[in-house]
Amino acid sequence: MQQYENAVEVLVIGGGTAGVIAAIQAARAGATTAIVEMNGQLGGTMTTGGVYAPAYFFSPDRQIVGGIPWELLQKTKALDNTPWPDFTQPNPNRPSHHIVINPAVYALVAEEACLEAGVKLHYHEILTGITPQEGGWQVETVGKGLRRTVTAKEVVDCTGDADVLGILELPREKSEVRQPGTLEFRFGGYDVSDLDMEVVQEHYEAAMADGRLQPGDYWLGKNELFVNFLRGGGHNQQHIFGADSTTSLMQTDANIEGRRAVLRLLRFIRTLPGCENATLEKLWTMAAIRETYRIVAETTVTYDDYMAGRIFVDAVCYSLYYVDVHTEEGVEHEFVEPGRVPTIPFGALVPQGSNRLLVAGRSVASDRLANSALRVEASCMAMGQAAGAAAALGALRGVGSRHVPIGDIRALLHEHKAIVPGIEGE
Ligand SMILES: Cc1cc2nc3c(=O)[nH]c(=O)nc-3n(C[C@H](O)[C@H](O)[C@H](O)COP(=O)(O)OP(=O)(O)OC[C@H]3O[C@@H](n4cnc5c(N)ncnc54)[C@H](O)[C@@H]3O)c2cc1C
Repeated sequence: MQQYENAVEVLVIGGGTAGVIAAIQAARAGATTAIVEMNGQLGGTMTTGGVYAPAYFFSPDRQIVGGIPWELLQKTKALDNTPWPDFTQPNPNRPSHHIVINPAVYALVAEEACLEAGVKLHYHEILTGITPQEGGWQVETVGKGLRRTVTAKEVVDCTGDADVLGILELPREKSEVRQPGTLEFRFGGYDVSDLDMEVVQEHYEAAMADGRLQPGDYWLGKNELFVNFLRGGGHNQQHIFGADSTTSLMQTDANIEGRRAVLRLLRFIRTLPGCENATLEKLWTMAAIRETYRIVAETTVTYDDYMAGRIFVDAVCYSLYYVDVHTEEGVEHEFVEPGRVPTIPFGALVPQGSNRLLVAGRSVASDRLANSALRVEASCMAMGQAAGAAAALGALRGVGSRHVPIGDIRALLHEHKAIVPGIEGE
């Protein structure tokens, strides 16, 4: 059994994509660290959400995210059978390559790395309150059969929804119109080469016309044949309009809407000639959410910054992806010019009006278009490492993370093998 402490130096709320890395970095830097995670495993959207194709660790020319994210990825790949992309070949359709991993293995590897670093794990526990106190925070959580009060010198909000800021009533913004969510699943039990594409398409169009299938059930359906949905088992092909994870009620609605769609699809697919034995082989337990709150911080990454590949003076990591806005109509893409690799500034992790509090992951300060790009997993992981380094330094020096000189944060990241804009390759 782990020995639990109700006083830590760094408390990470949310053990997802960013939070895992933040906690490992803080603990390896010497701070006593714990994670409060409302679900039963680490990884968040990467594991519990079933989104297991982290992007981008490489630009077309070089590696741009290293450190702890890369270490965990390599350990995961060493234990699964998913192929590496061929980084020597450019991706003809995208600026770089996603790296497919086995999410179950990633959850195991992430947990092992946390425990080895000395991170205390508190699963099935949710944040309910936080108040500032001398030199840090008093944090309230609730779990099955327990209520806890934890004191921490630094808190890192990796909830994906900036929940800590919500409770503290610090400013954060959410767009009226948000990207749809997706419940991840995979159908199987048929062989696409046995199917008649035209017959399948006729059936699909008839089902859309008579309401057996609904808009969003196959979000590429306006532009692509339904046989392409079947080819990938439907993975990442669903849109849940209005999906939101900000409250349990909203997440419940998203889960129910997602599952209703899966049931409609299963019933429909089994009517297709050649798919009579089709089955649902995999269904993740929680709808994955693309967009909720973005924090208001010292610096906001804008669309112009991102597209220009701006190197911020306080850059703590790179982030390469493309503007990727999913809508009710489909998806809009805009690529960063080749040769440019945008960066994330430390200021985007520091909530305005706060001290001893950092945010990492998809809710960092950014406008909506920049956010649609920098929310990807390699970027969130790299931001997590930066937040963990700054929080540890702030806690160990007793000064508050926002007051740690940026050169010291960058140097610590470099020491832990992160790729830091301006000092990589030293
Ligand atoms: C459908 C979909 C497809 C995507 N495709 C890709 C892709 O192909 N490649 C890619 O790189 N990126 C992709 N993304 C983007 C990327 O997966 C996410 O933006 C990223 O994983 C978010 O990381 P995060 O750390 O901010 O949040 P999360 O990984 O969601 O972590 C948040 C964690 O906090 C926990 N939590 C939340 N609130 C609380 C609380 N109050 N108390 C305790 N714990 C809490 C959650 O349980 C979770 O574990 C996709 C996203 C979606 C939704």
